[in-house]
Amino acid sequence: MKKEIKKLPEPIVFKSERDMPHCPVSMASMEWNETGSWRYMRPRYVERSPACQNSCPTGNDIEAWIRLLALGRLNEAWEAATLENPFPAIMGRVCFHPCMTGCNRRELGGTVNIGALERALGDAMGAKLPPAAPFLKPSGKKIAVVGSGPAGLACAYHAARMGHRVTVFERAQKAGGMLRYGIPAYRLPHDVLDREMERLAAMGIELHTGKPVANASHMQTLRQDYTAVFLATGAHRAKTAGFESEKSPGVMAGLELLRQTAAGKPPQIGKSVLVIGGDDTAVDTARTARRLGCEVTLIYRRTRAEMPAFESEVRAAEQEGIKIEYLMAPSRAVIKGGRAIGLECVRTKLGAPDESGRRRPEPVKDSEVAFESDTILTAVGEEIDTSIIPSSLAIERGAIKTGVGGRTEWHNVFAGGDFTIGPRTVVDALAAGKRSAIAIDCMIREEDAAAALESASICGNGPVLMSRYIEKVAGIERRVATTSNTCIQDRVTVFGEINTAYFTSSEPECAQLREVSERLGKDSFIEVTLPLSDAARDRELRRCFHCGRCTECDNCYIYCPDIAIAKKVGGFEFDMNFCKGCGVCSKECPRSAIEMIPEPTEF
Ligand SMILES: Cc1cc2nc3c(=O)[nH]c(=O)nc-3n(C[C@H](O)[C@H](O)[C@H](O)COP(=O)(O)OP(=O)(O)OC[C@H]3O[C@@H](n4cnc5c(N)ncnc54)[C@H](O)[C@@H]3O)c2cc1C
Ligand code: SF4
Ligand code: SF4
Repeated sequence: MKKEIKKLPEPIVFKSERDMPHCPVSMASMEWNETGSWRYMRPRYVERSPACQNSCPTGNDIEAWIRLLALGRLNEAWEAATLENPFPAIMGRVCFHPCMTGCNRRELGGTVNIGALERALGDAMGAKLPPAAPFLKPSGKKIAVVGSGPAGLACAYHAARMGHRVTVFERAQKAGGMLRYGIPAYRLPHDVLDREMERLAAMGIELHTGKPVANASHMQTLRQDYTAVFLATGAHRAKTAGFESEKSPGVMAGLELLRQTAAGKPPQIGKSVLVIGGDDTAVDTARTARRLGCEVTLIYRRTRAEMPAFESEVRAAEQEGIKIEYLMAPSRAVIKGGRAIGLECVRTKLGAPDESGRRRPEPVKDSEVAFESDTILTAVGEEIDTSIIPSSLAIERGAIKTGVGGRTEWHNVFAGGDFTIGPRTVVDALAAGKRSAIAIDCMIREEDAAAALESASICGNGPVLMSRYIEKVAGIERRVATTSNTCIQDRVTVFGEINTAYFTSSEPECAQLREVSERLGKDSFIEVTLPLSDAARDRELRRCFHCGRCTECDNCYIYCPDIAIAKKVGGFEFDMNFCKGCGVCSKECPRSAIEMIPEPTEF
């Protein structure tokens, strides 16, 4: 006879966190049920680095300020953000956001829109707050910073917070470097930049604009007058594109157009413009020329797939009516009356990869094409001006040679940002400035900079954290863990450690762009990217997993079957007399902030 199979009850399925019970699972007292000696695993609260922070070159503590912002604790969010990154309002606008590439949310609906949130924080708080106060007592030491781009400003900011007196020498009439004279105002409005400069000045940093360091002997004087010097003069020499008659009138560097336009004196470039290049400078040049009323054609020798410029920027350029000629290389300027009036180009096809790994463009025989133009703008990269580097200092691959923390062969001279070899982005410049500020502080304290930088960085070789450095030198605890007796782990939280049962897949909130007609209208340098609405910002804040950090969501407290977790002010505590080591708390923590470890054995 067939045995009747007893039907199992339907499983309870929690489709979202809203389906979860609101009351403790254990209702009665468990005081009768002490653990005794049989537990072989025990839980402990841990704090790990979120993946976003580890992917940000300057170690921005994104999780911390997102959490505080979501709680409406704006001042604390600002404090947490500006500990590692001095300029949230700027970085929210111009950073390429490698943090978003690293964000664990990417795997469940899309990365958190950290850029838009950072801008929201910067704009909400930047103007209202008092200047950042130093962490440490005044050291009485004087530091000179040469160049007021992001590398120089970051070094100045962090050094000032460590109690040093900082003077910045800047060649241009206004501070900001490429933030002001490269990146156009429709991406980074000058009032945002001015506000940040005012904040630095209010911190006591002396900004001397229109004061270039003229040559190598001037450098010698500086290093004698100051305890340390940080060189961050960037890369401002436009490379030549290499076509015939490139030096003729009617041909100018795109960087020069950007610089003069930013200074409020755009040059006369006529109505029809050709831009040569495929990186972000080329796209910024083309979009700036378009805003000055020109018809613009961008000429690039490879295909769109190889173009280094950001996809979103290229798309915006196309929307604005910029024509892009791919697989086209310039060969000579057409000269009439001593001035370039057009450009002869050849079509190209892609051959074998070159040293950059990209396929080399090769000219196609008998494929000449001629373009008419009022001005040809070249934008094929920037070089370093090495004239202020004294001959006794080594130059490597066209830049000053540096070691740990950007230290040069002169013991009190440091360098960073675009002036040195490395990635050329704003966030990398900020990271370099911070590293050198720490290395300078170590030099002043007569401590080993290499060891300090290693111990202040995530996993010993990741982004350097000011929070860890000041904790080490000044004992100032800046960590953001909310749960008491948390074990800090030098480890990054990965997606597999997130309990996705507690999160629904959702798409990120995207910032809207201004209509093209408005972008090219009367106020043509108006900011293109609009801020998130308050509602969209709040929804986006809620998408963060808070990887590896306890948010006091109470899950562990609710689900512990033995009521062995006590809720305290600012966190939780396990009662080891009652914890059985079942691991429910650890499993139910949405963000991997509890781990199970073997029970210590005593003999
Ligand atoms: C057009 C353009 C657009 C870009 N867009 C982006 C972007 O969207 N996002 C991004 O991450 N990166 C972008 N970048 C790259 C980024 O701007 C740079 O990597 C970054 O600004 C480098 O910072 P820095 O401080 O090293 O140098 P800079 O920003 O170049 O600053 C150097 C400063 O030193 C000053 N200086 C030079 N010589 C002297 C001297 N002898 N004495 C005193 N001062 C001197 C200069 O005037 C300047 O102010 C862009 C670059 C360009 C050119
Ligand atoms: S989900 Fe939040 S904490 Fe986790 S990596 Fe993304 S932004 Fe950072
Ligand atoms: S379950 Fe919630 S309260 Fe408990 S450790 Fe994890 S985040 Fe914190």
